[in-house]
Amino acid sequence: MTPTVFPAPAVPCLPVRGTDALFPVHRIYCVGRNFAEHAKEMGATVDRGNPVFFMKPADAIVPGGGRVPYPGGTRDLHHEVELVVALGHDADGEVAVADAMALVFGYGVGLDLTRRDLQAAAKAKGLPWDTAKGFDHSAPASELVPVADAGDVFARRLWLEVNGQLRQQSGLDDMVFSVADVIHELSKLYALKAGDLVFMGTPAGVAALVPGDRFRAGVDALVEFGGHIA
Ligand code: MN
Repeated sequence: MTPTVFPAPAVPCLPVRGTDALFPVHRIYCVGRNFAEHAKEMGATVDRGNPVFFMKPADAIVPGGGRVPYPGGTRDLHHEVELVVALGHDADGEVAVADAMALVFGYGVGLDLTRRDLQAAAKAKGLPWDTAKGFDHSAPASELVPVADAGDVFARRLWLEVNGQLRQQSGLDDMVFSVADVIHELSKLYALKAGDLVFMGTPAGVAALVPGDRFRAGVDALVEFGGHIA
């Protein structure tokens, strides 16, 4: 193999339930405005024909949660609890809605941590959201549960507690765009690969996190994880 000019960085990975083998993360896609009540609290409306996408770098993952450093550059770090969909196969070009679920490896839960003040400033100027969304440690995520062990994920409740208080919760049947819709739409824009994660958007109740806060997030009877802001 051709040598590299410095050691290649390790591929970020998530644990997988039931095996010691890890899930290597390729890209992190995120869906915005996928719960009507959250869109409303952000002063936006859901565009049913046109999902909002953005990305985080793969190494923004904080595998299994634990210590999450409070980022620089913000005075308003927000939590957004989200279902995480992990893809286990490469797409062959555009994926039909009917074929989309066959790409799914498994499910987890994660936080789409957001520098809300930078996002508000970017929105006001019509600028990109990258500094608000795609920063270091901005994607704490649980272990992944393989599809075969997950059951009917979409009948379940997504929730987040901070310091023991419930902050966000919603049935996953409240998502505007389904997992199949989102995979279909993403596949028109990107070459989807095994290792891709999709953060499916957050319900209402987003709010600030401060150093010392302890969080616990989950999908009922599927998976949960936690950590603290340092
Ligand atoms: Mn989000």
